[in-house]
Amino acid sequence: MLTASQLFALANGIAAASGPFRCWFCGGAAAQKCADAATVVKDSFTARDIASRGSKVCDGCMAAMQEKATVVLFNGEKRENQKIRSYSWVITRHKAEAYPKSYLPALADRLLNPPEPPFAIVISKSGQKHLIYLAPVNLDKTNPGVVLETNIVYYKPEELRKRLALCVLITAALGKKALDGPLTISQAIKMKNMHIKQVEEIVQEWNQVWDEPLSWLAAAVCPKKGDMS
Ligand SMILES: [Zn+2]
Repeated sequence: MLTASQLFALANGIAAASGPFRCWFCGGAAAQKCADAATVVKDSFTARDIASRGSKVCDGCMAAMQEKATVVLFNGEKRENQKIRSYSWVITRHKAEAYPKSYLPALADRLLNPPEPPFAIVISKSGQKHLIYLAPVNLDKTNPGVVLETNIVYYKPEELRKRLALCVLITAALGKKALDGPLTISQAIKMKNMHIKQVEEIVQEWNQVWDEPLSWLAAAVCPKKGDMS
């Protein structure tokens, strides 16, 4: 069973060496010849509590943590000298698609139409953390799990479609920042003044669900007001 990092390596033409050892990051199988965790893992690494902490670092994690990699965007554009962690990723054994922050509509569309399994999805908000090793490898696309920064969120594409539509409605009226919490009375008044229909229903619906993981996911991929067509 390949981990998300090992799937990422495979998409880049590297078959991670397998053996009786365990990877410090992803917990996947690693070989004697793989890098030693003691030499690779920096003392400054902050996510020790969520790492698997084996004795090796597998070839997959070495590939998934590169700071000067050639990445290929979902639209085929190639970029040199890139940090893997700066991008969101949709990974299958054949392809690792990178999504820059400026292409949220494409990423949202991909979440609604996941690839054929096995696949892994990683959504980076900060661009600062290595996240691929945390991603579950999905074997079906009806209820996939994605890494959203350091949370794992499971979703059903049809439910995400509805939640995203709600986020788009609110963002178009109030800006994306409004998705960070429940809607206030003054925001409701503002929406009414914009002649938006069914404001009460929108406010009630959002205020019931804004802190659900599905809403975090929808908000993360919802385009900014300025990027809406
Ligand atoms: Zn690994």
